[in-house]
Amino acid sequence: MDPKLAGAHLTIDLAALKENYRLLRDQAAPAECAASVKANAYGLGIERVGPALYEAGCRRFFVALPGEGVTLRALLPDAAIHILGGILPETEEVYVAHNLVPVLNSLHDIRQWAAYATDHGPLHALLHLDTGITRLGLLEAEIRELAATPELLENIKIDFVMSHLACADMPDNPMNREQLEKLHFFRSILPEALRETPVSFANSAGIFLGAEFHFDMVRPGIALFGGNPRASTANPMREVVRLRGRILQVQDVDSEIPVGYGATFRTEGSSRIATVSVGYADGYFRALGNKAECAVKTIKVPVVGRVSMDIITIDVSKVPAEDCQPGAFVDLIGGAVPLDEVAAHAETIPYEILTSLGNRYYREYLDAAV
Ligand SMILES: *Cc1c(COP(=O)(O)O)cnc(C)c1O
Repeated sequence: MDPKLAGAHLTIDLAALKENYRLLRDQAAPAECAASVKANAYGLGIERVGPALYEAGCRRFFVALPGEGVTLRALLPDAAIHILGGILPETEEVYVAHNLVPVLNSLHDIRQWAAYATDHGPLHALLHLDTGITRLGLLEAEIRELAATPELLENIKIDFVMSHLACADMPDNPMNREQLEKLHFFRSILPEALRETPVSFANSAGIFLGAEFHFDMVRPGIALFGGNPRASTANPMREVVRLRGRILQVQDVDSEIPVGYGATFRTEGSSRIATVSVGYADGYFRALGNKAECAVKTIKVPVVGRVSMDIITIDVSKVPAEDCQPGAFVDLIGGAVPLDEVAAHAETIPYEILTSLGNRYYREYLDAAV
């Protein structure tokens, strides 16, 4: 897209992404560092993010669905690709054709993969144990049933046993240690042949819980993309995403003038209100109205009034007039407006902000190496 035709520019810094990968890899070493790149690499574009992570040394990727795996396989012919959602009905052939390795989440998944493996095996898989999130994975009863019928795995090679933390972003939450202990216990009641199988446990936040949580492979997502893996301390990750919107119009108004739908904001003194060409249709959450801040040349300014479909209004009274002319850029995410702050103002998490980024932006990828 011609950048002049877009209301906002989304910049994705692949050099920063690679640096984040290396930081997480070093933090988790000697464990292998995989990457969670489901949902189009958290909305940032798997076509560019997948190969960039591969360049940084990543050789193992997690996506949610087989369709995402097929897309990623076309980009990365020799990486390991795991499907977190298990095996969807009647998709076994697709997994084999594209060398996608499923995460087996239940005895149902195991039976389905085992049935296919009878004629097409041996087949690879990961085995997911549910240590407390109660979402995906085998619970104790299913593990015991598996242990009683180990022949189910006759034609299946389990590369990793995995589990997922529910509260890793809260380091003091006792759930973390409870899940860790349950994982050790579950390993001890697995079929004999799986008790020494390598383990994967940590997401981004889990990596920062300490070495006990690393095991043999970690699978961060959000921290790769610049989200803070430890909300309570300064963000160690480099910023990857920057969103800048353009000013369409500037209005000089008197006090007590209503702004936006529903007249939810009234100017207090004589004010300058700038209209910026981004709205909820672009993934700029409606919840950010009268809440969020933007920045004009590093000066923070408030979003006033409601967020419209294509437009927000900001109070630029304290910004020099020459810096907020029509066509000028305003920082909406990144720079003086950290992603985590935008998420907090929208009462959500950075994951939802990133995966909601719209498709009207001019998307630009930076890579220092290119
Ligand atoms: C999404 C996901 C991850 C990555 O989580 P982050 O919090 O983004 O690091 C890891 N493991 C599983 C099972 C996931 O679904």
